[in-house]
Amino acid sequence: MALSATIKTPLVSFTQPLGLYIDGQWVRGQSGQTFETINPATEEVVAAVHEATAEDIDLAVNAARRAFRNGWSTTAPTERGKLLLKLAELVESHIEVLSAIESLDNGKPLKLARSDVLSAASCLRYYGGWADKVHGQTIDTDPSFLNYTRHEPIGVCGQIIPWNFPFLMWAWKIGPALATGNTVVLKTAEQTPLSGLYGALLCHEAGVPPGVVNVVVSGFGAVAGAAIAAHMDVDKIAFTGSTLVGRRILEASAKSNLKKVTLELGGKSPNIVFDDADVERAVDWVNNGIYFNHGQCCCAGSRIYVQEGIYDAFIKAFKKRAAANVVGDPFDENTFQGPQISQLQFDRIMGYIKSGREQGATVEVGGQRHGEEGSGFFIQPTIFSNVTPGMKIMQEEIFGPVCAVQRFSTEEEVVRMGNDSIYGLAAGIHTTNVSRAIRVANALHAGTVWINNYNSLSPQVPFGGFKQSGIGRELGEYALSNYTQVKAVRMLLD
Ligand code: ADP
Repeated sequence: MALSATIKTPLVSFTQPLGLYIDGQWVRGQSGQTFETINPATEEVVAAVHEATAEDIDLAVNAARRAFRNGWSTTAPTERGKLLLKLAELVESHIEVLSAIESLDNGKPLKLARSDVLSAASCLRYYGGWADKVHGQTIDTDPSFLNYTRHEPIGVCGQIIPWNFPFLMWAWKIGPALATGNTVVLKTAEQTPLSGLYGALLCHEAGVPPGVVNVVVSGFGAVAGAAIAAHMDVDKIAFTGSTLVGRRILEASAKSNLKKVTLELGGKSPNIVFDDADVERAVDWVNNGIYFNHGQCCCAGSRIYVQEGIYDAFIKAFKKRAAANVVGDPFDENTFQGPQISQLQFDRIMGYIKSGREQGATVEVGGQRHGEEGSGFFIQPTIFSNVTPGMKIMQEEIFGPVCAVQRFSTEEEVVRMGNDSIYGLAAGIHTTNVSRAIRVANALHAGTVWINNYNSLSPQVPFGGFKQSGIGRELGEYALSNYTQVKAVRMLLD
């Protein structure tokens, strides 16, 4: 099968790489197998890509090891930074193609796809800026010693990304790894292999040396992903995905070479609206908090707590707002919500809606498939009320356009409710009382707390989870420590 194909979209036509990008070359998988990727808005096949298996992972890891040893780890940091800046420019100049790929392969509305691509470019540029600003300390112990630390790259990094933000996660992973002198074997998600492969094309064009970035590997999680996690010559793994698989990654590390692990996992984030909030503004942010990216966000604000004085007004306005979200064709510039990623996800989400009904919650809005069966995995924006904390829809991550609204009376009560979760990725607070905002932000167990907004991310600001939402932080200066190890040098002076 071919290593590339011409793909036509309503926006642009482009040449899409379909192979594996290993050691600076486009190759077929060793098994000779391919698999199809589906357009979730139409359920039609977009393309077939070459599948990576454990043998390909070996080749990619060997290439990454050679590239690490033979120069990348000792390339002048400024040069590494320049390459990242060049890559950021290339990403920006290919915004229409990359956005079209995301809309086609993932079902993201164009507006959102474009914003993802720009955020990816910002992330690469941000870490390009960091490349020559990573340094250790000199430490005074006594006059007979010179002590200093070096922040050295870790080595070969396995990076496994999910399907909900395919290109953005690609950039979040590659940026800090390359800036700090590591080499990469990155596996895209099997549902969305295309933008990561296109990104590899841009790495090539930017002049990233062979073997430094092996993007890789459109393989399945249980095959290619598991092979990366268990590999004896992968020094670190950065994973974004479900908590279930996160556990497997940690286990694989423990059973193999104790590779360092960072995990960005699931969530069930509370979004809290106090009586003194501006209802319309709060509704906008709450709507964005759950329905942005079709609810397929690990940080989605899916548990919405509204104080009793404002509850009725809030529900009324929120129902109206949710029902007005435009669901449909990702290539239509007016679309806000596209399809869910796959039949599997569609079925899971509909299963949760059924469970909410069965456990006695009330569907205020939505609750059904949007459109005809067989023409895309669309689900109506759905709001549940009359929920209790023990319900499945209040405890488990749904990863779809479904939220539950619960009434509360006091600040103390809502902090307790908000923290009643195995997860701790994010939280939102809507209030005009500054002291309350800060008090509640301090009390919530979450890696990110948004006050009077939701889902806003910036490459400068760290992101990651408390509790079972993860280990380590991405973005910001904090991510650099996940990609470096500290060496202490003690020199005895004569
Ligand atoms: P989801 O359930 O939303 O698809 P997953 O956690 O299964 O999320 O997938 C996230 C990423 O993890 C994907 O790239 C997938 O291929 C990969 N993956 C899935 N299973 C494994 C596994 N056992 N080992 C390593 N990676 C895996």
